[in-house]
Amino acid sequence: MSFIKRLKFVKKQLENDDIYTFYFRRPKNLIHKAGQHGLFLIAGLYRPHPFTISSSPDEEFITISTHTSTGSRYKKKLMSMRDGDAVFLVGPVLGFTFSGTRNSYVFLTQGIGITPFRSMLASAHSKSLPIKTTLIHVDGGEHSFRELTRRYATKAFYPTNSDEFRELVSQESPGQLFYISGSPRFVRATRGLLRQRGVEQDNVKTDSFFGY
Ligand SMILES: Cc1cc2nc3c(=O)[nH]c(=O)nc-3n(C[C@H](O)[C@H](O)[C@H](O)COP(=O)(O)OP(=O)(O)OC[C@H]3O[C@@H](n4cnc5c(N)ncnc54)[C@H](O)[C@@H]3O)c2cc1C
Repeated sequence: MSFIKRLKFVKKQLENDDIYTFYFRRPKNLIHKAGQHGLFLIAGLYRPHPFTISSSPDEEFITISTHTSTGSRYKKKLMSMRDGDAVFLVGPVLGFTFSGTRNSYVFLTQGIGITPFRSMLASAHSKSLPIKTTLIHVDGGEHSFRELTRRYATKAFYPTNSDEFRELVSQESPGQLFYISGSPRFVRATRGLLRQRGVEQDNVKTDSFFGY
């Protein structure tokens, strides 16, 4: 089975602010786990971008969700895609996925770092996984995918600043499995916060969105 897949572009949809979700037809041989990402190449651009697959494995399309007004050539190309255009996906890769052995998860994220949790919460819901999930999603503006994550997480909180975020994190019992996703700076700071709270390093998984 090839590790590089050609994905046909279908449509884009505005989520909030400058964040769009891009929909691609799912190739028959593409199997992914909720939370994984891949390297997405656009013909004519030399640097591929890693993106989390924001759709769950049960959803019809492969989607990525991203800020689009960063000014980069890559984002301009993405925004100009039309029906029938294609990208290449290398992957899916890595294991920012459910552990399979634990039943209590705390998802900590900032901004667009919500993408793996959108996929994991939708997947947990459709599979009726017997797990408890707590989402704490900090964002100074609108919280992307708020309606979906509120519906599917056992508990969900949407703080708008770091003080509220830290206060909510401090209320979580340290014995759970903690997942952190977002900019490298956010991941570092949140990992430090969990360490102060006595959470063991083995109970922390991280996904750093290099490039933010
Ligand atoms: C595992 C993973 C998952 C990601 N998932 C998402 C997602 O779901 N949604 C999303 O919006 N973004 C995601 N990203 C970030 C994404 O790949 C882009 O970096 C980001 O969207 C900015 O792209 P750009 O074209 O706007 O900026 P660019 O012009 O590509 O980059 C902005 C700046 O970051 C630097 N940079 C770019 N890539 C890297 C890198 N790999 N390491 C160090 N510096 C770098 C550039 O040199 C530049 O200075 C993810 C990144 C990783 C590593």
